[in-house]
Amino acid sequence: MALIVQKYGGTSVGSTERIRNVAKRVARFHRQGHQLVIVASAMAGETNRLIALARELSANPHPREVDVVAATGEQVTIGLLAIALHELGLKARSYTGAQVRILTDNAHGKARILEIDEERVRKDLAEGTIVVVAGFQGVDTHGNVTTLGRGGSDTSGVALAAALKADECQIYTDVDGVYTTDPRIVPEARRLDRITFEEMLELASQGSKVLQIRSVEFAGKYRVRLRVLSSFEDADSTSTGTLITYEEDDHMEQAIISGIAFNRDEAKISVMGVEDRPGIAYALLGPIAAANIDVDMIVQNIGASGHTDFSFTVNRNEYRKALEVLEGERAQGRFQARDIIGDNRIAKVSVVGIGMRSHVGLASKMFKALANEGINIQMISTSEIKIAVVIDEKYLELSVRVLHKAFELDKAPEQA
Ligand code: ADP
Ligand code: ASP
Ligand code: MG
Repeated sequence: MALIVQKYGGTSVGSTERIRNVAKRVARFHRQGHQLVIVASAMAGETNRLIALARELSANPHPREVDVVAATGEQVTIGLLAIALHELGLKARSYTGAQVRILTDNAHGKARILEIDEERVRKDLAEGTIVVVAGFQGVDTHGNVTTLGRGGSDTSGVALAAALKADECQIYTDVDGVYTTDPRIVPEARRLDRITFEEMLELASQGSKVLQIRSVEFAGKYRVRLRVLSSFEDADSTSTGTLITYEEDDHMEQAIISGIAFNRDEAKISVMGVEDRPGIAYALLGPIAAANIDVDMIVQNIGASGHTDFSFTVNRNEYRKALEVLEGERAQGRFQARDIIGDNRIAKVSVVGIGMRSHVGLASKMFKALANEGINIQMISTSEIKIAVVIDEKYLELSVRVLHKAFELDKAPEQA
């Protein structure tokens, strides 16, 4: 008997019919004697709808109230799923994040989980009850409802698995595992049986939305056995999805490149002809950080005649705010610059693989493939296992396809 946490995403609980199918799958695991904690997302599209309602009433709704509204999507699905489980003759009880007491900080819209009270869940499990928990939400120390950021139900699932020391956390979604890239963009993308934790972390941080980045961080910190699988396949199918592994397996044929991630959610800001003096990076990015805006890539050019150009990228929905912050600082004389320009029609494409540590020439292979298509690279950043480039958004899909082909990701490693 194992303790398993299963998380079902929005498409998997997108209708009562699908909720019934989820219940049947859960029942099968229950019959096998496992203890089960089920984490559910809101029905597909529901969180978008709820947030849009708040925006209909205000261009700038208070984040606390947005969370109150957004968190209701998950409350609907957990109740429905518990009802569907009852219909199959099973004992099940649903809980919101606050009821479990998934304690978070108070950063509404992107709260972090601090602690999970296991008592209630453990008690139910001991009685043979299936526990159904709302994903994406928690509560702060003052009792305010918080949400964990888009895609946050993955993190609820992994965090519960970590707290309960579950034997496995299974993320059920609309694809049957982690692919070499998003199969919606590249139909030839291949499912990976396994992927190392570090690669998964890098892919998620570069925009692969199959797992929310924080869920991968949690899994790594607490060594949660994490698997991504399809909720649409027959539960008796032998596909075991993709396992996130913590050891590099010597026996395994390890591909040099494991996958390609992309992100359309970024925007670029360039400060042109800024003074080239000590402290200038701080003068530009200090106020950006103080405004709680995350910066991703940063590029500073070689200075010439005492001036330089400084560019960085931020999340697209913080683009306007970032421009305003910089204009404000310049107006107050904190720095001088010829111009501040922005571009929110950019995209980032990243090639990821632990094989990069021991192979050379991968960056040039990437740049050549893009050059062959006439795609201009605007910014580059690298880590030990990643090369990322910023390009014009309109070339995003093309670049993902050509890179997938150039690195022969459509072929199994031994064939390539
Ligand atoms: P859920 O609602 O179940 O959380 P998401 O839409 O958040 O599902 O994540 C699953 C989607 O992630 C897939 O439908 C797929 O389009 C996308 N995706 C992006 N990159 C990958 C990848 N490398 N492997 C698999 N799916 C990916
Ligand atoms: N329902 C939330 C969202 O759409 C959380 C999730 O699906 O993981 O972002
Ligand atoms: Mg998701």
